[in-house]
Amino acid sequence: MNYVAHDCRNTRNGTCNNRWVDKDLTIASTKIPTWKYCRECCEKLGIDFDKQQPSDYRTEEQNERFKVNAEKLVKHKQKH
Ligand SMILES: [Zn+2]
Repeated sequence: MNYVAHDCRNTRNGTCNNRWVDKDLTIASTKIPTWKYCRECCEKLGIDFDKQQPSDYRTEEQNERFKVNAEKLVKHKQKH
């Protein structure tokens, strides 16, 4: 198991500055992952820190990509 620096998900909106070292579940290479909330924020939000999963926190960008791919598939089917 590799370990990486992990930023709290709330660093995205600037409400938290916590960074810690955590297990590398997303095979992060250069970008510091931010899919997980720090323990403090979890406590505030009532989330179980250890139950957080990368798939629970798909980014907007990924959502957009899935949507575009789905639309392409539909168009492709309609042509035939
Ligand atoms: Zn935090």
